[in-house]
Amino acid sequence: MWTISDFPAYSMLSGWTTHGRLACPYCMDETDAFWLPNERKTSWFDCHRRFLSRNHALRRNKKNFRKNRVVSNSSPLELTGDEILFERIEDCVRSYGLGVTTEVGGNGHLPIQGYGEYHNWHKKSIFWELPYWRHHKLRHNLDVMHIEKNFFDNIINTVLNVPQKSKDNPNSRKDIKSICLRKELELTEDGKAPVPVFRVFGEAQKNFFRWLKDDIKFPDGYSSNLARCVDIGGNKLTGMKSHDCHVFMQRLLPIAFAELLPHHVHESLSGISSFFRVICSRTLKLEDITMLKQNIVLVDVPV
Ligand SMILES: [Zn+2]
Repeated sequence: MWTISDFPAYSMLSGWTTHGRLACPYCMDETDAFWLPNERKTSWFDCHRRFLSRNHALRRNKKNFRKNRVVSNSSPLELTGDEILFERIEDCVRSYGLGVTTEVGGNGHLPIQGYGEYHNWHKKSIFWELPYWRHHKLRHNLDVMHIEKNFFDNIINTVLNVPQKSKDNPNSRKDIKSICLRKELELTEDGKAPVPVFRVFGEAQKNFFRWLKDDIKFPDGYSSNLARCVDIGGNKLTGMKSHDCHVFMQRLLPIAFAELLPHHVHESLSGISSFFRVICSRTLKLEDITMLKQNIVLVDVPV
């Protein structure tokens, strides 16, 4: 009926490369993604305010997102299967010789015109041969637990400031200066990085690890033993499997930093947690959707 995969496999299944600036198969060439020169990465920060309603106050917020930026553009057009197939893919087949899987291989990249610039098609997916494929509202689904693990690893490694793993590093601090109004995070004149508001260290960090090791108990079979993932000497969590991250994200993150971090940081983190709780729940009730909308705003607050 449809596919469920992680984001790299999405690329092989859909024929749209999920790397680089055009990685989003929905925004396509309408993306607001931009390049971070010091971190040497593409960033999708502040790409989401365009999905808010036209007169939403956050669209005019020049302070908390990319600095001095007002978002007036609307969300990218949601293309139907017919529009994607006949106006985008077939056009690439005719004009630039986009190949099918049997010609270019499962993940083959023939350098066709415009690739990486205004489209990311590397093949015409074989799924389009299914007679019903273009009538699907949704053709490819993402496996939430993969995304949840990436989110969790990055959050916890940044909060605990794990060397080489934290997203808070000298290069990201340099990029912040040109992109955000966050004076308190910019490198000082002698090149030092001030301690950020979202870091748990010292006595607070010891308490956090002690809590995980000694106090947290789950019902039998609910999760593997999280205490064995605590590496107190190394000040980090190790060997967390996807499911461990899932349990931590949904059950512990809403309370873990309530007393260890400032209230607004804790709220943002538990907002991310409830986002995953809502998209994982099988039935989306109206209250959930309302909550989700509120929490998207929380997620958008740069932590
Ligand atoms: Zn997108």
